[in-house]
Amino acid sequence: MKCEIICVGTELLVGDTLNTNVQYLSRELSNQGLSVGYHTTVGDNPKRLEEVVKIAFNRSDLIITTGGLGPTQDDLTKEVIAELFNKELVQDEKVKEELLQFFANREFPFTPNNLKQIFVPEHAEVLPNPCGTAPGILLREQGRVIIMLPGPPREMKCVFEEDVLPLIRKKNRQLVLSRYYNLSDIGESAVEDRLLDLIDTQTNPTIATYAKMGEVLVRITANGENEKELNTLLDQYEDIMLERFKDNIFTCSKQSLAETVAKLLIEKNITIATAESCTGGLIASQLTEESGISKVFGTGIVSYSNETKINLLHVKAETLEKFGAVSEETAREMCENLQKISNADLAVSVTGIAGPEGGTAEKPVGLVYIGLCYNGITQITTCHFNGERKIIQQKTANKVFHLIGK
Ligand code: ATP
Ligand code: MG
Repeated sequence: MKCEIICVGTELLVGDTLNTNVQYLSRELSNQGLSVGYHTTVGDNPKRLEEVVKIAFNRSDLIITTGGLGPTQDDLTKEVIAELFNKELVQDEKVKEELLQFFANREFPFTPNNLKQIFVPEHAEVLPNPCGTAPGILLREQGRVIIMLPGPPREMKCVFEEDVLPLIRKKNRQLVLSRYYNLSDIGESAVEDRLLDLIDTQTNPTIATYAKMGEVLVRITANGENEKELNTLLDQYEDIMLERFKDNIFTCSKQSLAETVAKLLIEKNITIATAESCTGGLIASQLTEESGISKVFGTGIVSYSNETKINLLHVKAETLEKFGAVSEETAREMCENLQKISNADLAVSVTGIAGPEGGTAEKPVGLVYIGLCYNGITQITTCHFNGERKIIQQKTANKVFHLIGK
């Protein structure tokens, strides 16, 4: 079944609102094994809306629209689609009753424009909206299905989950199974390159890679009718993944690197302390996103200035003078002293140049030293990152998590 999604709303076109509905619907439909062929975004303009619905109708079996079902003048989706298929808009008594009920329970007054919502195209099915006032509408026309959903993401999701998903599941007996692998310390293009033989010939399963800052998520999706067969197929691909990316896979799930490392530290009861310069507390912040981390994380110091490096971390003034704040020696003293101060099993330090200013020929922007002091052994890693300030900071944090994970 070929599907497509049309999102209606001028706010999407002018960039005021991020189109999260299209992402949600695409993911949900794909998870059900349906193929989404097109996304279209169109403003609150009846002529252009009619045009895109016509085009969609000629090439897809299932069309889902979002937005433009509300009570205001610019909400036109239902009106335009009804007219296109020569359907009268008729009052729906049940919708009217529910609408009046909805307002009876709210502090907002009922305004006459709300009555617009009780009209639905004749012969259409109403998809109740337990989260708002505008119901969804399902129209069957010449063997195709058009589903209109409200625009507000919460309501759209509500109607989709309550009314649309069960219909799709009933019709569609295909099983779709996905496995995820999250990789660190490798770029998306390198991942793709190592999988090119499989990507080039892929039919079932399909392989997709998604790059996040410093992490690459690989999704392998198989579909079919027999769960056991699908799992056997996915097991074969899992072996390939584990073999080709043995140094990079940190989790066989969608879990982020920071979360994986935080969970690992808690599970193994390894206490950690951080002393951060160029990341300004990012590492500590991402570790503390994990609940229960207090069991192993007690000290996080942001030692941005030389004074703090000297006063709090007891880095020698001579070290800073002779080698500079961004140096292997400073990173070493930061983490070794931090270990003594905090008494943690693992002390981590970072010092680097996040840019955009402050780089020199000798020490360019993106140069970062990471110190890891564990079991009395200090390991210093020199990194050369590129990108903007924020990216360098996140890459630094990810490298730290990657090194800890190893
Ligand atoms: P309402 O009853 O709120 O008018 P509606 O069905 O008419 O509902 P719209 O008026 O098109 O929907 O959109 C309402 C709000 O929902 C928008 O202001 C926007 O914030 C949000 N919205 C609409 N479409 C999307 C989308 N595709 N992605 C994310 N948010 C959206
Ligand atoms: Mg609206």
